[in-house]
Amino acid sequence: MAIIKRILVTGGAGFLGSHLCDRLVAQGHDVICLDNFFTSQKVNVAHLLGKPNFELVRHDITHQVWLEVDEIYNLACPAAPGHYQYNPIKTMKTSVMGAINVLGMAKRCRAKVLQASTSEVYGDPEVHPQPESYRGSVNPIGPRACYDEGKRAAETLFFDYHRSNRVNIRVVRIFNTYGPRMHPFDGRVISNFIRQALRNEDITLFGDGSQTRSFCYVDDLVEAMIRMMNGPDDFVGPVNIGNPEEHTIKGLAELVIELSASRSKIVHRPMPADDPARRRPVIDLARSRLGWEPKIPVRLGLLKTIDYFRSIDIEQYRPPTPNF
Ligand code: NAD
Ligand code: UDP
Repeated sequence: MAIIKRILVTGGAGFLGSHLCDRLVAQGHDVICLDNFFTSQKVNVAHLLGKPNFELVRHDITHQVWLEVDEIYNLACPAAPGHYQYNPIKTMKTSVMGAINVLGMAKRCRAKVLQASTSEVYGDPEVHPQPESYRGSVNPIGPRACYDEGKRAAETLFFDYHRSNRVNIRVVRIFNTYGPRMHPFDGRVISNFIRQALRNEDITLFGDGSQTRSFCYVDDLVEAMIRMMNGPDDFVGPVNIGNPEEHTIKGLAELVIELSASRSKIVHRPMPADDPARRRPVIDLARSRLGWEPKIPVRLGLLKTIDYFRSIDIEQYRPPTPNF
């Protein structure tokens, strides 16, 4: 018989968190979704509310929370540049105090705790593609620092609690992930381009569009997170999770226009400060230790995401901040 665990997902109502909750609830676990709804709306988890093994807690992870759990996935943090830069001090607090709070809980409950870290720990990388051994090139005083340095500090806390207090940790470094339930006004490139394309509005390309990103479909990402949590205790990471297929942002804009049969035109906007020029994960470690690699090609993932955006009523969504 499968073991039923009590699992806390912080940021569980968000884009990634809601898909993770879906999977854990379907596996029969007793799932607590904790969120302050800063960058998400309840609609993402509304379909889970009637389930006996799902619970929704409105709480801000910068404040202590007292729960009894076996596992924690720590996803609470705004992830889109516009929104995490809106209140940068709060973003740093969410990463750092959030990490301290979940690590304290994990220590008390002897729970396993997984941190959703990010490719942003590599900053604007001088090494390409990026292996886990690369220590990164982050501007500590730039507009992205509240997120990048917050996530770096959270990794430090995870490893110090592991070394000093034997907390059972896992750290995954997530590269750009997309899919259904991205907030239509989160301001990230795929949600922006699809929202604009479906309304035949101008597609806002920052800079000349030669910067690259590597896009992973959400189902692939969730599979990797669950494998990491359930993997051997001696494999704590950090491990890169992402799709090594690399695209220029201009190429992405053209692909979204093609796949959505849009009449949108591409317009250029200034390049944001410290925007990384290139990003692509080395995923050898995930392949060898988790037996994982992404399965959904970008064209297919984009089609699924476009279908989702067609299916929702965008008017029902409130922009989290003016920055999208
Ligand atoms: P998201 O914005 O959809 O989800 C984040 C969730 O955290 C939201 O529901 C938000 O309301 C909640 N939240 C924010 N601050 C909080 C606080 N103080 N207390 C409680 N809840 C809070 O973004 P996402 O893409 O689902 O990202 C989830 C996690 O994965 C984040 O930690 C993010 O840094 C990380 N990540 C995501 C990506 C990606 O491409 N999607 C890449 C790297 C890392
Ligand atoms: N971008 C863009 N137009 C937009 C939104 C983003 O050209 O409307 C670019 C952005 O400058 C960056 C890339 O797309 O180079 C990915 O941006 P996103 O905010 O999705 O994530 P990041 O990887 O930068 O955190």
